[in-house]
Amino acid sequence: MAHKSQPGLSAATVIDIWEQGIGRHPIDQALLLLRYAHPEESFDALCEWTVGRRDAHLLELRRHIIGDRIEGYAECPTCRNGLEFELSCSALLASAAPSEDTWTRVEQDGRSLELRGPNSRDLALAITAADPEQARRMILSRCVRGVAGDAEMPVWTEVNQAALAGRLGEVDPLAEVLIDLRCGLCGQQWQTLFDIVTFFWNELHVRSRRLLQEVDLLARTYGWTEGEVLGMSEQRRGLYVEMVLS
Ligand SMILES: [Zn+2]
Repeated sequence: MAHKSQPGLSAATVIDIWEQGIGRHPIDQALLLLRYAHPEESFDALCEWTVGRRDAHLLELRRHIIGDRIEGYAECPTCRNGLEFELSCSALLASAAPSEDTWTRVEQDGRSLELRGPNSRDLALAITAADPEQARRMILSRCVRGVAGDAEMPVWTEVNQAALAGRLGEVDPLAEVLIDLRCGLCGQQWQTLFDIVTFFWNELHVRSRRLLQEVDLLARTYGWTEGEVLGMSEQRRGLYVEMVLS
């Protein structure tokens, strides 16, 4: 990772981020988190981080704020049995080196092309598409280019679009995390997509609500201000809450 220093977010900052991101698109929520974790980067630069690089930094931030272990939940597509699974931020980070926005040359159908992983700007454009197929074409037209001396773009066909979309995943491996699951009841095996942005944002939502409930309880009991309650260490705040509730 490029950044050795671990970003720290106070309880008050977590609530600030959550408040600014409520109801916004996950693309914006992810950028909001990156801005707090990496104030040294310009917003434009963060928008141009590939999705894989973005998600690697979100995994690091999640590990730092909440912990390494992720407890996921999925439903068997065949028998609807609920299934819990565990992931580790460190293991996911170790599984793939994030791309650094550089174009990667690949051979496809006998010609050389250059690809780069999609970034937040590409995604923001793709969500305006009328359907998934148009979205894929929009992404490909931005993330695939001819190499020098061969400026001509491929003619898009169903086959080469699917192949090139697959190769975008190869140049930016963390952009799509697929988890292999197996149902203990009926034996069904399937893959599920793990999306760190949605997962992490939901955790921050739960955490922010809990913090505000603690502020409410302690302010009413002791007359402390929001700032005073949020400024306490988690341990101290937790002990006061325990004493009030006992
Ligand atoms: Zn099942």
